[in-house]
Amino acid sequence: MRKIGLHLGITSTLNDLVQRAICLELPFFQCFFTGRKTGKVMIPDDQDVREFLSLRRIYFNKLYVHSSYFINLASIDRRYHPLLSKEIVLAKRLEFTHMVIHPGAVKKVEDKSAGIDAVVRIINYLLRKERSIQFLLENSAHGELAIGSNIEDFQQLLTKLDQPDRIGFCIDTAHVHAAGYDILSCKGYEQFIKLLEKTIGLEKIKLIHLNGTQELCGSCVDMHSYIGDEHAILSEFGLKRFVHDKRLINIPILTEPPAIAENDERRMLVKVNEWLSPKLPDQIMK
Ligand SMILES: [Zn+2]
Repeated sequence: MRKIGLHLGITSTLNDLVQRAICLELPFFQCFFTGRKTGKVMIPDDQDVREFLSLRRIYFNKLYVHSSYFINLASIDRRYHPLLSKEIVLAKRLEFTHMVIHPGAVKKVEDKSAGIDAVVRIINYLLRKERSIQFLLENSAHGELAIGSNIEDFQQLLTKLDQPDRIGFCIDTAHVHAAGYDILSCKGYEQFIKLLEKTIGLEKIKLIHLNGTQELCGSCVDMHSYIGDEHAILSEFGLKRFVHDKRLINIPILTEPPAIAENDERRMLVKVNEWLSPKLPDQIMK
């Protein structure tokens, strides 16, 4: 059965994290390894890792780590790479299968091509070195300076990679909307899917971040809202299109809500799992 995964906030131990995921009956989950405020990668003790692995191996095939926002692969000075290396070491130790990375941003629009080349250099290196993790580049909300706010950046990047077949992409719906793609209208949504087909190919999309937002289309503001938020502009109506689209049916979906009460979180998961149920009539795309 198709089910939605969830981004889980860092807990005091890895064992707590995996227990929470099991309790919520998640098919898979995503988390950060690096503190959003501290910029430091977590250092679990051996016993915690053992306990985590024993449950992780029973309950989950796929696990996603979201690399830190402190990492900017588009920066040419390479100072973010040690943090990325530490996250990859931990991901392998904990048997995570996928790493979602924001490519980062350049300082001036004229630098964008150089920024893409910087991303290409590090991704080429990672693909040569790492075989056990699939890297997924995520589209950005942050306007022209950010690589991947324009989906055509990814097309350019693919043409420059040594092993383009080994990289995947993660499409975040809130970022698509904030970057200025009008996915709320039927026509705009179709145009966006056609753009994905033409530039990177739908088969390269390995994950959808199904997020709503209260921000306007084209705002370039990266603020997620939970699915069901009545103040959202990108609301359930727009998000259902992605869930019901037969062309995207084999792509895993997870959501990254802001902190909400556990009961609301459960209600949200139940609701989206009902959307994902094959028994529902496919009304949205008609
Ligand atoms: Zn995301």
